[in-house]
Amino acid sequence: MAATDDRPEVRLVAHCRRCHGWLLSPRSVAEGIGPTCAIRERAELRAAESSALTLFDIAA
Ligand SMILES: [Zn+2]
Repeated sequence: MAATDDRPEVRLVAHCRRCHGWLLSPRSVAEGIGPTCAIRERAELRAAESSALTLFDIAA
């Protein structure tokens, strides 16, 4: 298990940071999140941005 001590950043397999499921595609591994969770995360980011804009509107 300690064979990659010199390259701690290299991970051949990875889990989704959101649901901790296995990431199957190289792109998902690179992003650290599965495609479904990426869509959900983007939707949440957008919701957070729009609520921040709402707060701005209230403040202004
Ligand atoms: Zn996931």
